[in-house]
Amino acid sequence: MSHDFKPVSGREMPRFAGIKTFFRLPQVDHLGDYDVGLIGVPFDGGASYRPGQRFGPTRVREVSSLGRVYNWGRMQDFTERVRVADVGDVPVVPIDLAQTYQRIEKHFGDALQLGRRLIAVGGDHSITLPILRAHRKKWGAPLRLIHFDAHLDTYPAAWGCEYHHGSFARHAIEEGLVDAKHSVQIGIRGPLTGAQDLDFVKRHGLRVCTMDEIRSQSLAQFVASLPDFGSAPTYISYDVDCLDPAFAPGTGTPVPGGLTTFETQTILRGLKVGNLVGGDVVEVSPAYDVAEITQLAAMDAMFELIGLMPATRKA
Ligand code: MN
Ligand code: MN
Repeated sequence: MSHDFKPVSGREMPRFAGIKTFFRLPQVDHLGDYDVGLIGVPFDGGASYRPGQRFGPTRVREVSSLGRVYNWGRMQDFTERVRVADVGDVPVVPIDLAQTYQRIEKHFGDALQLGRRLIAVGGDHSITLPILRAHRKKWGAPLRLIHFDAHLDTYPAAWGCEYHHGSFARHAIEEGLVDAKHSVQIGIRGPLTGAQDLDFVKRHGLRVCTMDEIRSQSLAQFVASLPDFGSAPTYISYDVDCLDPAFAPGTGTPVPGGLTTFETQTILRGLKVGNLVGGDVVEVSPAYDVAEITQLAAMDAMFELIGLMPATRKA
């Protein structure tokens, strides 16, 4: 193939035209030759409130036609650092969470075993658990997790079902997929069912950065307070509801009082992560979106995650 992992130029083919792939990049099979794959996981069978996250990947592909390759904040062109491709969607089973989990874990596992790194677009937040299972298997040790969210996602079973979009972080810690003591949650806020909702994170020593904590200091001070993740295998899960509903109305369970898009850009650019092994952007529900605000925010978060991936190409 001669594409060299460059996007279709907007000066030759207008950005509103052509077949949509993430960032107008070439489409490659998930088991093909690339460094970082952008992959859709169009599943919303774990959503407890607003559904529709199954349409996230397609709609984020559409708006990512507006994406560019040069990150001004980093002074870097991602195509010069890594070979990024759109590797399609995971073939989920829309009416069966258990079968979908098996398919996600296998699909990711097969690519990870070949040395690929993946950035997923959901999908509701329940998809992150099988993705973490595949990463834990690949890396052979618990991962460090950086989790952007309004919610703790350590909640108990709902309607008798253990697996839903509000329980992925609890299962990930209980299953030993994630090293809680070296992980962090960012953007947490909102009413809880009760004080007992905090028992789990306290027991496991998970650092919870609430909106109150973030806004009680300058953004630079907050970023500086985050740990250096060094070369430890690290995974970033970005639930768009970490953003205030003013910046991300199109999501499953919006919570007022959140981060701005600029704040999450700044935090993502400031993270000291030397070995980002994977990431996801979840909970985009396009039917509730307004003027594509949320889809654009999701595309931008993917862009920042690409910028955090370790370089494989020689400078
Ligand atoms: Mn979440
Ligand atoms: Mn959330």
